[in-house]
Amino acid sequence: MEEKPVAMDEESISQRIDAKSHGLVLLIDDDPMVAEALRVMLENEDDLRMHYCSDASSALDVAEQLKPTVILLDMVMPDINGLMLLRYLRVNESTRAVPVVALSMKDDAKLKAEVFTAGGNDYLIKLPEAIELIARIRYHSNCYIRLLQRDEAFRALDISQRKLAASNIKLQQLASMDGLTGIPNRRYFQETMQNEWERATDDGKPLSVVLMDIDFFKKCNDHYGHQYGDEVLCKVAKAMESSMEHKSELVARFGGEEFVALLPGVDIDGAAAVGERLRKVVDSLKLDNVQSEVCAWVTISIGVSSCMPGTEGTFFEQLIKSADEALYEAKMQGRNRVVKSLDLNHSEGKSQ
Ligand code: GH3
Ligand code: MG
Ligand code: MG
Repeated sequence: MEEKPVAMDEESISQRIDAKSHGLVLLIDDDPMVAEALRVMLENEDDLRMHYCSDASSALDVAEQLKPTVILLDMVMPDINGLMLLRYLRVNESTRAVPVVALSMKDDAKLKAEVFTAGGNDYLIKLPEAIELIARIRYHSNCYIRLLQRDEAFRALDISQRKLAASNIKLQQLASMDGLTGIPNRRYFQETMQNEWERATDDGKPLSVVLMDIDFFKKCNDHYGHQYGDEVLCKVAKAMESSMEHKSELVARFGGEEFVALLPGVDIDGAAAVGERLRKVVDSLKLDNVQSEVCAWVTISIGVSSCMPGTEGTFFEQLIKSADEALYEAKMQGRNRVVKSLDLNHSEGKSQ
């Protein structure tokens, strides 16, 4: 039968394991003479300590407090029957796995059967010989301590596995995020694009890319300082991210002052419309860039490209390259505008 770990609170487990070099015996017996006899038997055993409880009615509380590693339980007591107390010990969360050795005057098969049925671990006739008593106490106590140690090890393993899983998730998130702006980075974009490319190939749907570059950003840095430049990047990134309307659309930092959006299922005109929306979003931020040759605030130039993945002659890298060429064209035409890719769609035009 499979052994179940003992369910116990952490404090109680470590308390018991702390005492692991010692077995802690709780004797529950109304007869002080028996207690004295057992005390004498155990007094030279350095690894065993004994606590005596003569009052059966408080024995359960004592057992909860003391956290013994083995209980010696008299079967006949005035207040409460030993078997009954054994059943209580077995249903109590903090004592249910503690080994119980029944002590009885009677070598009675029926009583023995009842003890074992009720969850007792051993049965000794009073008074046992010291050597036998000590051997059995040590055996049960050590078994119990090993059980606690195993549970402790399982618990520690479980905690470290959870921590590891949590830090793996965190690491994965960090690895796919841009450190400055907090939006997805180029690596994540490329992974997503690979997946979307395959999905679009299967579905026969278009895939579009919107490549964006801040205009005269070097002048912005030179005039206001690098820190201001960083703030601009963050604000532009956040504004772009929060203006995306569909869950499937992704905005990422492509590098430097370049951003990219991936639009699954969107054609070239749809992509140009998204580009135009993003251009307006950034324009409306009115982030100072007095040195810009376009106007006194930050603007972006945009190149868009689109294709039907899977059709002959279309390549993953080509989609980006075409968007980059369109972006270059947008710069050439005066910046702060959207240009559609020529190569893949045989159309061009400024969409603002
Ligand atoms: P254009 O309109 O032609 O795009 O001109 P530009 O000045 O924006 O382009 P250029 O490539 O000459 O300069 C880009 C600048 O972006 C240079 C670089 O120092 C700056 N840059 C790149 N990454 C960061 C960054 O993380 N933080 C800051 N503050 N600046 C950055
Ligand atoms: Mg650039
Ligand atoms: Mg630029």
